Amino acid sequence: MIYADNAATTKMSEAAIEMMVKAARESWGNPSSLYAHGQKAKEALEKAREDVASVIGASPREIYFTSGGSEADNQAILSAAAAGRKKGKMHIVSTAFEHHAVLHTLEKLGREGFEITLLDVHEDGLVVPSEAEAAIREDTCLVTVMYANNEIGTIQPIREIGEICRKKGVLFHVDAVQAVGHIPVRVEEDCIDMLSASAHKFHGPKGVGFLYARKGVRLTNLVEGGAQERGKRAGTENLPGILSMAVALKESAARMDEAAAHLVPVRDRLIQGLSEIPHSALNGDPVRRLPGNVNFCFEGIEGEALLLLLDDRGISASSGSACTSGSLDPSHVLLAIGRVHDVAHGSLRLSIGEEITEEEAAYIVRSVKEVVAYLRGFSPVWRDLTAGKRAFIL
Ligand SMILES: *Cc1c(COP(=O)(O)O)cnc(C)c1O
Repeated sequence: MIYADNAATTKMSEAAIEMMVKAARESWGNPSSLYAHGQKAKEALEKAREDVASVIGASPREIYFTSGGSEADNQAILSAAAAGRKKGKMHIVSTAFEHHAVLHTLEKLGREGFEITLLDVHEDGLVVPSEAEAAIREDTCLVTVMYANNEIGTIQPIREIGEICRKKGVLFHVDAVQAVGHIPVRVEEDCIDMLSASAHKFHGPKGVGFLYARKGVRLTNLVEGGAQERGKRAGTENLPGILSMAVALKESAARMDEAAAHLVPVRDRLIQGLSEIPHSALNGDPVRRLPGNVNFCFEGIEGEALLLLLDDRGISASSGSACTSGSLDPSHVLLAIGRVHDVAHGSLRLSIGEEITEEEAAYIVRSVKEVVAYLRGFSPVWRDLTAGKRAFIL
C-alpha cells in the first residue's frame, strides 16, 4: 500500500500520538482553573504556544489556537473585513485558486457588499506580485494569498507580495496550511500579518490548528464565550490536540531539509516518468512547487476512474482536493490555471511523503502508465481524438 495523498491529510507521527495520550493522561486539567491541576495544564499550553511561535518566527502572544485551517482562514478574513467595513474599505484581493475555506468566506463577504478581486494565477500556477500591487486600491482592506497550493503545490512569491502590502498599508493574510512544516515560513521576513496552519497537514492530529495574528492586528471572534485565547477564541482548549500539534510541528520543522532532500529527486523522477505518457501535462511550475507534490492531466480519461484503478493496485492518490473529489465538477484550481473542462477532468494528484522509496515511485509510474493506456482503450473521447475527429489539447 502506498499513501500518496499527504495534501489531503498526513499520518500522525509516533511522537505526536504519544503526546496526545500523555496529555490526555497528565494534562487533563482545565487551563482556566487556578488550582494546581489547571495550572499544570496552563503551563503545558503556553509551552506549546512558544514552540509553535518559534517555528514561524512569531511571538507566543501572536498565536491563537483554533480547530484547524478552515477556522483560522475564516477568522482571519472575517476579522480584516470587519475592520475594513468600519473604515469604509470594502475591497479584498485574493486569487482564483485558494482553498474553499478562503473562497467561500470571500463569496459570503461578496454577498454582504464587499468587492472581491481574484488575481490570475497564470498557466504556471503562480501569482505575479506586480499584478497584486496593481489590484490594491484605496479601499482595499485585505490581500489574502495562499503560501502553497493544495492541489498543484505551487509556491507563491509571498515575500514580494508581503512587501507590497506592507508598503501600501494593507493587511496580508496567508493560508499557509500546505507550507508550514514543509518549507521554511517566517512571518517577519515574509511581511505576513495573519497566517493559517493546520496540524493534520504536518503529521499532527485533525481538528486543531492555529492562527498567527501580528501584534496590533484586531481579531473578531467566531466563537463567543469565555476568555480563552486572549478573548479571541472561546471554548476550553483542546489540550491533547494542541500539545500534540506542537510536537509534530517541531519535528517537521527539524526534519524539513532532510525530508526535502529525499522528496525532491523522487518527485522529479515521478514528473519525468509521467511526462512520458503521450498527451499528458504537468500542472504548475516544475520547480517552484512543494517537495512532495506531483499533479498531472491526461487527455481522454476520467480522473475518478484512474483513481479507482490505482486504488486496486494499492496506491492512494487524489484527483483534486478532498473536498471536491466526490463531486463531478472539475477542480477550480485546474480551471484557474487555464485547463479546459475536458482536460481538467483527467487529473491526478500525487502528494508523496517522506517514507516513499525509489521502488515505490517506479511502481507508481508503471501503474499510472498502464492504467491510463487501459482507460484510453475504451474511452470514446480518446477514440475521437486519435481518429482526428477532435483536436488534441495537450
Ligand atoms: C487542508 C487545508 C485547509 C483546511 O484545513 P483544515 O484543518 O482541514 O480545516 C485550508 N487550506 C489549505 C490550503 C488546506 O490544504
